[in-house]
Amino acid sequence: MTAIDSLYQHYLKHRIICTDTRNITDNCLFFALKGDNFDANTFAEKALTSGAAYAIIDNLAYKTSNRCILVPDVLSTLQELAAYHRSKLNIPVIGLTGSNGKTTTKELINAVLSEKYKTFATKGNLNNHIGVPLSLLSLTEETEIAVIEMGANHQKEIEFLCSMAQPTHGLITNVGMAHLDGFGGFEGVKKGKAELYAYLKQHLGYAFIYRNSPYLLEMSATADLDKVVYYGAAQSDSISGKLAKTDPFLEISWNKDSSSYQTTTNLTGSYNFENIMAAIAVGSFFEVSPEQINEGLSGYQPKNNRSQITKTENNTVVCDFYNANPSSMSAALKNISLLNAPKKTVIIGDMFELGNESTEQHKIIADEAAQLNVCTLILIGKEFYALKDKLNANFFSTPAEAADFLKANAIKDNLVLLKGSRGMALEQLLPLL
Ligand code: ATP
Ligand code: MG
Repeated sequence: MTAIDSLYQHYLKHRIICTDTRNITDNCLFFALKGDNFDANTFAEKALTSGAAYAIIDNLAYKTSNRCILVPDVLSTLQELAAYHRSKLNIPVIGLTGSNGKTTTKELINAVLSEKYKTFATKGNLNNHIGVPLSLLSLTEETEIAVIEMGANHQKEIEFLCSMAQPTHGLITNVGMAHLDGFGGFEGVKKGKAELYAYLKQHLGYAFIYRNSPYLLEMSATADLDKVVYYGAAQSDSISGKLAKTDPFLEISWNKDSSSYQTTTNLTGSYNFENIMAAIAVGSFFEVSPEQINEGLSGYQPKNNRSQITKTENNTVVCDFYNANPSSMSAALKNISLLNAPKKTVIIGDMFELGNESTEQHKIIADEAAQLNVCTLILIGKEFYALKDKLNANFFSTPAEAADFLKANAIKDNLVLLKGSRGMALEQLLPLL
């Protein structure tokens, strides 16, 4: 029996993987991963006394009992085990990547597919080299379809995640101005994301492609994909649709073959059109009925401050402070300009990870925001602050300074957009709105 076979037997018996001694489940397998500031080999003993069945370690010095399994490298072992487990399951796995809207699209696809199937979808945003294997190890023999979110900020990452998830179907939500530093500019983003198409080509998988994105069309042509399902706004596609209403929540009318359907949602932001259409296309492909598709979509409530409309005591706030990059920022600004409200306020924070395009991209977004003609425009963060002499707006280098401004100048009866990169933590301003 190979080492991975033997570990797989332990996995089949115990099924639960833990990586944090603060959350040990009885009888789990504890994988002692390393982080920037810790080496979980040092916690192996604690994991065992807290109830773990076995601890997988890669430092002999911490092998304190025969319930410690010594491997050459804990992270690669976790990844290898996940790939091995995945390969044993003969089910469709939908691999999902893209610059924006991965989690939202994943949740929408899951909402639709779970109307008919026993599904598993990545929990939250567990989409990296640790999250993907943990997701795969959550699949069981009962799972009928899995939706796996794959995030990346550099080349070859999607290729690697595909080698573990072995997607039979794939969807790139879009390509945009995100993680420009790690990918090496926009062309680099396209190249990096197209690794999913390359995997599908090589393994005869299906790609779902949003017809209205010239970039995705170009990337799929380059990959020379054989099995493609198009969706979008074009009538020629088997699944097409259009926005029937946008204010504040989206309604979509869509066609399948020669029949028309109407879907209501709890999502705001016209950019969510493509995310919803993706879910309709995937659902239709897997023969979920149009009625079930509509049920799944209209029942989905956005979570975690991604385009979430919140009524505060004084205002209506579009909470979109989960993350930001130039593409999603531009989409959010466009959305606020289209929503109907007598008074509007825009509060936006710096966008991170833009490398040497950062200054220029912040200038473009600041210009777009200034053209909206809102009652109050607040720009926060070092990058925006550097533009303070160029535009007429309220500039603050930190959220704390913006908070002081909001305390002195209360905003009332406004529709407010609150958006910035995660590191800006703009949620701290919500209690002041
Ligand atoms: P992450 O890279 O953090 O995993 P993600 O790709 O999973 O992000 P979501 O969490 O679904 O993306 O959405 C984050 C934000 O991106 C949303 O709140 C919204 O502002 C924006 N967004 C979502 N979908 C789109 C889209 N199709 N086009 C542009 N922006 C979008
Ligand atoms: Mg995500």
